Amino acid sequence: MEQNARPRSAELFDRAQKILVGGVDSPVRAFRAVGGTPLVVDHAKGSRLIDVDGCEYIDYVCSWGALILGHADPDVVSAVADQARRGTSYGMTSPLEIELGERIRSAVPSIERIRFVSSGTEATMSAVRAARAFTKRDLILKFEGGYHGHADSFLVEAGSGLATFGISSSAGVPEALARLTLNVPYNDIAAVERIFSEHSRKIAAVIVEPVAANMGVVAPAPGFLESLRKIAERAGTVLIFDEVISGFRIAYGGAQAAFDIQPDMTVLGKIIGGGLPVAAYGGRREIMELISPEGPAYQAGTLSGNPLAMRAGLATLPKLETPGFYNSLNAMAERLAAELRAALRESGVRGHVNAAGSLLTLFFADEPVRNYADAKKSNTSRFATFFHQMLNRGVFLPPSQFEALFVSAAHTEDDINRTLSSARASLEAIAVAK
Ligand SMILES: *Cc1c(COP(=O)(O)O)cnc(C)c1O
Repeated sequence: MEQNARPRSAELFDRAQKILVGGVDSPVRAFRAVGGTPLVVDHAKGSRLIDVDGCEYIDYVCSWGALILGHADPDVVSAVADQARRGTSYGMTSPLEIELGERIRSAVPSIERIRFVSSGTEATMSAVRAARAFTKRDLILKFEGGYHGHADSFLVEAGSGLATFGISSSAGVPEALARLTLNVPYNDIAAVERIFSEHSRKIAAVIVEPVAANMGVVAPAPGFLESLRKIAERAGTVLIFDEVISGFRIAYGGAQAAFDIQPDMTVLGKIIGGGLPVAAYGGRREIMELISPEGPAYQAGTLSGNPLAMRAGLATLPKLETPGFYNSLNAMAERLAAELRAALRESGVRGHVNAAGSLLTLFFADEPVRNYADAKKSNTSRFATFFHQMLNRGVFLPPSQFEALFVSAAHTEDDINRTLSSARASLEAIAVAK
């Protein structure tokens, strides 16, 4: 399948660059880490993206994990269409927010009270504000390569797009604010202990992706999350699980259910909106009660709790509760991961496949990847070659070494088989060239 020539995409992307910054509305979409002309998408269905040239791709981006049911799931589509006729935004409370909130609380019981917002960035930013209000402290601790959206406080040693572009911190973030964000390596409890003893009782919150997915996928080492829970408790620090990716992905109740750990606060996004812009933050009642109008920490949103988005979430979550949903999704991803490892061995190309649930990353790294420093040792130019080899064979991977592949329920065994034969051919081509 020769898909190198994509004239319509090239033409539209040219036009895009004259109006949209970098031709995109979110940086990783620009393919800067892999080169070449980015996809310009015409439409999508199930596991497939179809670009404006009519080329079809098996999609492992799935809107960066939001689409666990795949594109244009019929139930989500009809819920959104029905809701559109009933009004697209009310600017007042509707029963839909209550219902989605209650559903989320039954899945994630550590969330006693919730606030819906429109993006993960808003949710993490607001969760930290609540934690600071609760503890009356300023410092926050995050992990190198952890991504928590683009609010000022988080753009220090962050993953995702910043990792892709090799940026350690963003321009435009005041030094004074950046100094309030502490960073330690993921999976390194000794470093956490050290930083807590250096800043004893000054850390408002520790925010962590319980399964890291924005430096590529890195699972928590045994005991890591348990230790974090204990250390935060002892220090009077609010433990925030950023489950924007892992929520309703690693398990219905998120990573906190899978690892049986109760954070004080949780941030959700992506899946809960069924592909529409929704996120949420929530947690212990005494913390959430500090948010306006109940408390003094201000946070608001014109389109928050948007009814179209609530309907998409309400159409999505029940389908995830179907018995066996996660077992079969994860089994498909596990087979993909296992056979990619076998393909690496056969080809002689050095690499490691990290996987957790339906998330995986093939790192072109010599050594296993347990944190951001390890991830950064990957051969990103080899990744770029692999990415284009796969794209030309009709498989769309995230266009960066430092992102997760997302397997959805719309992916079929046949999709996985086609992906694997493309991967074998792509790795072979790399082995021959190197
Ligand atoms: C995507 C993501 C965010 C940010 O969400 P946006 O909706 O893109 O603002 C925050 N945290 C994690 C873990 C994410 O993956």
